[in-house]
Amino acid sequence: ARRRVEVPLGSRAYSIHIGPGALDTAGAEIARIAKGAKCAIVTDANVAALYLDRVRLSLEGAGLAAAAIVCPPGESTKSYAEFARVCDALIAARIERRDIVVALGGGVIGDLAGFCAASLRRGVRFVQIPTTLLSQVDSSVGGKTGINSPHGKNLVGAFHQPSLVLADSGVLDTLSPREFRAGYAEVVKYGLIGDRGFFDFLEARWREVFSGGPARAEAIAASCAAKARVVVADETEQGERALLNLGHTFGHAFESLSHYDSARLVHGEGVAVGMACAFRFSRALGLCSGQDAVRVEAHLASVGLPSRIRHIPGLDADAGAILAAMRQDKKVERGRLTFVLARGIGESFLARDVDEAGVLAFLEQELALAP
Ligand code: NAD
Ligand code: ZN
Repeated sequence: ARRRVEVPLGSRAYSIHIGPGALDTAGAEIARIAKGAKCAIVTDANVAALYLDRVRLSLEGAGLAAAAIVCPPGESTKSYAEFARVCDALIAARIERRDIVVALGGGVIGDLAGFCAASLRRGVRFVQIPTTLLSQVDSSVGGKTGINSPHGKNLVGAFHQPSLVLADSGVLDTLSPREFRAGYAEVVKYGLIGDRGFFDFLEARWREVFSGGPARAEAIAASCAAKARVVVADETEQGERALLNLGHTFGHAFESLSHYDSARLVHGEGVAVGMACAFRFSRALGLCSGQDAVRVEAHLASVGLPSRIRHIPGLDADAGAILAAMRQDKKVERGRLTFVLARGIGESFLARDVDEAGVLAFLEQELALAP
């Protein structure tokens, strides 16, 4: 059951192919868009051990030469040093304007390899083969690429759309359960932003999404379609794309207060707590029903995601410290806190100028909740 989602961005339009085995179609699909091109596969050591041979075989089977550049796994790979090393390796592999950089891995590899592709010779084409749930439903679609600065995450980068995305739902079987759940938080997000029916679907069929039945590819396709819609409406993030930040103003604060220590909290877990907070805050403001807020929390809990601040291990910040961390977030515009709030499941909207005293009172109430 292969699915396709189109991203209609004019001359830079591309397709996302979703389903088990999509990885093995890399050669045929890349040959279709770049006949006879040289390819360079950028990947990390974990993914290389599992999937590099399959991708290389597929490319060579289609007559495409394939060099491989293997990076260390982990967020620290999104660095100036690794950017320089990969760019130089691409140059050494003689990748030119008509050739293809293949990003094989999670969001770290997609962001790094995409930024290298954007920069090399002022832009070479690249293909995303995302191998984590997060990268399949979020980072591989939309064209945001980049690396981290010592001053903060994702501060250096470029918009550079891929030419093709191959999301193989089967490769997610080797992902750790924790990484899978973290990516699933972003899947839930699409339902909460604008698609109540999709949230209903997830409530009914999440077990199959986790175990790898047909509902998994269906959920990935629905998520990619939702992200693609937002990206096409707002490619460079002026307005509507901001809705994708549901749960992220809170979530980034929790990540920062956990010192980005993935042993304590990974991004998707912070977003899960953040989305539950956004719904409870919306209820506290009289915007959304208590029933919907409870449904959000219950679904996150049923898949094993945290939904309350007190679920975050080792977070001993008070309400003031959390508010201060939220003010540091890049989503703060000219000193004003911007939140994605909701009138209900599937009815999110952007709220500028949220009253800080109200946020503080809400956070105090949250910290008083039983874990
Ligand atoms: P990741 O790339 O670090 O992957 C997580 C871990 O899983 C790594 O250790 C990796 O080696 C391993 N792995 C990957 N695929 C595997 C597989 N199939 N089987 C077993 N192990 C596998 O992390 P991630 O969560 O995919 O991505 C996080 C990054 O994405 C962050 O840097 C974040 O800033 C970025 N991001 C970018 C965007 C965007 O729009 N560009 C959006 C969201 C997140
Ligand atoms: Zn996110």
